[in-house]
Amino acid sequence: MKSQLIERIFAETAYVRMGGSESELRAANYLKDICGEFGLDAHLEDFEVPMANINNATLTVDGKEIECKGYFCAGSGEIEAPLYYLTSDDKYSLSCCRDNIVMIDGYLGAWRYRDMVENGAVGFITYDGNVNFADHDIDQRELRAAAVGDYAKILGVNINAKDAVELINSDAKMAKITIDQEEYVGKSHNVVVELPGEIDEYIAFTAHYDSTSLSQGAYDNMSGCVGLIGMAEHFSKNPHRYGMKFIFCGSEERGLLGSKAYCEAHGEELKNTVLCINLDMIGCIMGKFIACATADNSLAS
Ligand SMILES: [Zn+2]
Repeated sequence: MKSQLIERIFAETAYVRMGGSESELRAANYLKDICGEFGLDAHLEDFEVPMANINNATLTVDGKEIECKGYFCAGSGEIEAPLYYLTSDDKYSLSCCRDNIVMIDGYLGAWRYRDMVENGAVGFITYDGNVNFADHDIDQRELRAAAVGDYAKILGVNINAKDAVELINSDAKMAKITIDQEEYVGKSHNVVVELPGEIDEYIAFTAHYDSTSLSQGAYDNMSGCVGLIGMAEHFSKNPHRYGMKFIFCGSEERGLLGSKAYCEAHGEELKNTVLCINLDMIGCIMGKFIACATADNSLAS
């Protein structure tokens, strides 16, 4: 593939495309068309994803309003409670969550969320950035269905690291979170190209094309999509023993939702799929290129 075309693809997809959004669908159709330019027959496969429109989200601490973004799909309402900063997941620290709005470091993983809810937290605060990047744009986060499981939903907001530091320094006491959002079921899409081989066994090549809320997703991960197109073009013109599936996945950044939906919809075919090679953030000009193998060692080497 010529570098001019690669640059054209990056330029023409230089927009935020979060999973389930209209811009993500625009990128899906774009990839389908680009595949068409190479004579590759691509089709879209839709799947359901939880969506939300946030009308309003506020965080007030000791009477002072703090810039925040409400968590998608964390429910609506208002909660006021003492602020507690959870710095460790030992039993005592967790027990202090009870009836408090809990601020945590780092990402809100499923275990952390469930620990908080089990220990009686009534709301949560996460923050973006660190001491070096204390004041950048606040990322849009979501309370993932996979994290909630059968647990209750509690309201949550994401704030800036500089405000998080200020809350601790000022020994903040009472926090209030309000969120007003409409939650609904939307659609995201995988884009699929299939090239039959000589035998009825398949190799799947995957790369996600959605982005996070603050990224135009060139490196992460239109780069991987370009890699997929290049390989699909090659194998469409050259004989190959295995059948090949090239899957541009939607909603990866929301918890691999496109991959999961594909596996669910193609359960039978997976029996004949012998390998999956996923490309995420390739072609970097600095740093190292990392390959992770989840197969046995013979494949890794
Ligand atoms: Zn990625």
